[in-house]
Amino acid sequence: MSQTSCSQESAVARAVRTGEWNETLEVHLRECAICRGVQEAARWMQALAPAAQRSAQSQNDLPDPQILWLRAQLSERQAAAERAQKVLRWVEVACVMAACAGLSIWLAWNWNGIGGEIADRLGWALFDAWPAFWANLYAYGPVNSPILFSSALAVISFVAIGVAYPLLARE
Ligand SMILES: [Zn+2]
Repeated sequence: MSQTSCSQESAVARAVRTGEWNETLEVHLRECAICRGVQEAARWMQALAPAAQRSAQSQNDLPDPQILWLRAQLSERQAAAERAQKVLRWVEVACVMAACAGLSIWLAWNWNGIGGEIADRLGWALFDAWPAFWANLYAYGPVNSPILFSSALAVISFVAIGVAYPLLARE
């Protein structure tokens, strides 16, 4: 009849746990296969225990729900600030556009008074500098300088928007 249990089992398990061995237990361990099995099992349990403790601790290390909530609030606020900044930039661009349009309309209306002098200066740059270009343009139909000047401003503002838009879109 083979033995399946030993009276010293619990003593061996306790010794493994505490690390306190006495001589009689060590002598018994050498003679008793059951207690050697118990010792081995107890050592395995001890080796596994720190890992279990670590995983329990990592659960404790999980961020506090309140901290998560605060972080979410903060990022929400940052996103709102970024949106506001983007809107502000668009307002700036719109203002520049409106100013350009207003200036060109005003210049078109008051061309005879103020435009004359500007036309004299710009006229040289625009008309005398590129005679071939303007000669070609005039060939397509009657063009007067206020309309030309206004459309030049409009083109400039559109170019400005074309430059500004990719910059805004990238951010
Ligand atoms: Zn035993």
